[in-house]
Amino acid sequence: MSKYLNEAYQDLEVYTPGEQPQDMKYVKLNTNESPYPPSPGVLEALDAAAVKRLRLYPDPECTALREKLAEIYGVKSENIYLSNGSDDILNFAFMALSGGVVRFPNITYGFYPVFADLHHVPYRQIPLRGDFTIDPNDYCHPEDSGSCEICRKKSIGSGYDKSEDESAVRMRDGMVVIANPNAPTGLTLDESDILRIVEANSDRVVLIDEAYVDFGAVSCVPLTKEYENLLVVQTFSKSRSMAGARLGFAIADAGLIADLNRIKYSTNPYNINRLTLIAAEAALAENDYYRENCELIQRTREETAGSLRELGFTVLPSKANFLFAKSDRIGGGELYRQLKSRGVLVRHFDNPLIEDYNRITIGTGHEMQIFLEKIREILRIL
Ligand SMILES: *Cc1c(COP(=O)(O)O)cnc(C)c1O
Repeated sequence: MSKYLNEAYQDLEVYTPGEQPQDMKYVKLNTNESPYPPSPGVLEALDAAAVKRLRLYPDPECTALREKLAEIYGVKSENIYLSNGSDDILNFAFMALSGGVVRFPNITYGFYPVFADLHHVPYRQIPLRGDFTIDPNDYCHPEDSGSCEICRKKSIGSGYDKSEDESAVRMRDGMVVIANPNAPTGLTLDESDILRIVEANSDRVVLIDEAYVDFGAVSCVPLTKEYENLLVVQTFSKSRSMAGARLGFAIADAGLIADLNRIKYSTNPYNINRLTLIAAEAALAENDYYRENCELIQRTREETAGSLRELGFTVLPSKANFLFAKSDRIGGGELYRQLKSRGVLVRHFDNPLIEDYNRITIGTGHEMQIFLEKIREILRIL
């Protein structure tokens, strides 16, 4: 840290991404990328002519891509916002739409608390049930401090308050953030539960992070037509095999989309680069290719889950492109290390609530065979 960094950022605990070894010697099952390449049309579209046009700025409104997405998702293009990875949308939401104390589960995507801290937004991490499911009731009774003068004066929008006299301040509950399916558990909330949460929080934003929705869960995009407080966030990183292209999108009422654009045009109007725009448009023209990949990944997931259960693992019922599993014969950290020393990378989290578990991305059938072989080998020598 230099002496120039503003005080506000000196204590920041940054997000730790999964390992990205650059030498490719691992069977890489640790960051939920697709094991399959982008569709053939994407490879064709990124030709020399596309590279030559890199001298020009891209279309800041991404009109063509938004129109294609709108068609696929049955909304209007004014309901779509595009971003440089969906992390960017989450960042903007914490920056500008928090509206008070942001609530999210205590076991979920590790970036949420980092964004909250970055923007000095207070948050509450709500415990999951014992079986790692989300109890929708926990999000259906927001505390409103409408009558609290102190709070209203000091907490300007975000609800953040560093008041000396904390007890005098009741902060208003703000945005709800739920990953559905949740990460790293892979468990889902029913649409009816999401609907209840959205209705109970009509004065605040409910952000549903659907990064993994294409692997067998039900999207709540259709609800965005009726509820102006619902912000659905998706990404090309997982189901559309384009983590490296950095493309995320939000679907919501035109009002929320305008808010996101307001922030975008105040930070980085050209947030989607030309090559990514071309790749994504080509990808959407071959949507069936991705749908089939997702189905294949789901079949591989169920086969792998079955094999792990036969080996005595507890495996949560996942609707994502990963499994969350533990063995009572070996600790999560130890299994992670043993697998890594045998060339297989999975994701382990130090959080004591889930330290027995590992998150295993679903790779190709062949990769999962290698993974299972190594697991059998490790269990044999215990
Ligand atoms: C992967 C992931 C994201 C971020 O994806 P981008 O690559 O930034 O689009 C967002 N939310 C969750 C829950 C994720 O797992």
